[in-house]
Amino acid sequence: MIHLENFAKLQKACTAHNAELIAVSKTKPIEAIEALYKEGQRAFGENYVQELADKHTHLAQDIEWHFIGHLQSKKVKYIAPFVHCVHAVDSYKLLTEIDKRAAQNERSIDCLLQIHIAQESSKFGLDEQELQDLLVHPELAQLQNVRICGLMGMATFTNDMEQVKKEFQFLKNLFEKTQAEYFNGQAHFKELSMGMSGDYELALEMGSTMIRVGSLLFGSRNYG
Ligand SMILES: *Cc1c(COP(=O)(O)O)cnc(C)c1O
Repeated sequence: MIHLENFAKLQKACTAHNAELIAVSKTKPIEAIEALYKEGQRAFGENYVQELADKHTHLAQDIEWHFIGHLQSKKVKYIAPFVHCVHAVDSYKLLTEIDKRAAQNERSIDCLLQIHIAQESSKFGLDEQELQDLLVHPELAQLQNVRICGLMGMATFTNDMEQVKKEFQFLKNLFEKTQAEYFNGQAHFKELSMGMSGDYELALEMGSTMIRVGSLLFGSRNYG
């Protein structure tokens, strides 16, 4: 059910690049997650709020859950009690909602800002100007229960690795610029979440600190 050979390969690649492996378990059963958990994996990524909330109640409490999909403000409350990191924050409004719900649960939630780097218009995310606007928002400093830990992006779904490389390079440059200009000396702004099953090797070479890998670990998905 799970691909242990790929798991070993991914772990090795992550160790070599000092990166973290997020095992993307969306649409996959509890048993598959348990199997990988038994092998030592603790960070799992999910895309759907209801599915994540259900899985969280049924699985070990020391799993570190990453929400990697598009998150609607009205659904933040369902995952705020336990989610470790939200990868795809793409508006100030969403950030304030996460902050509010985290505060209600007396905790802090790590957030990554999603940048639109793909050619497809369907992928969510901020452009450079929107990122800047968010980071200079006059009330940003009042959000005490979220921690902006870095940037996230999804490359174009293509076999053209030159195109993907360009997009990863763009994101890496923006990450470094943002780090220097807005988070100078703040050690927690350190994550660059990029790379999936099809492009994780390239992403690691380009400086990714978190790869989000699903199908290589769990097999291809069936959306029914
Ligand atoms: C599904 C998904 C992944 C994992 O995709 P694979 O190609 O199966 O590795 C990574 N990131 C996001 C945002 C996803 O939605």
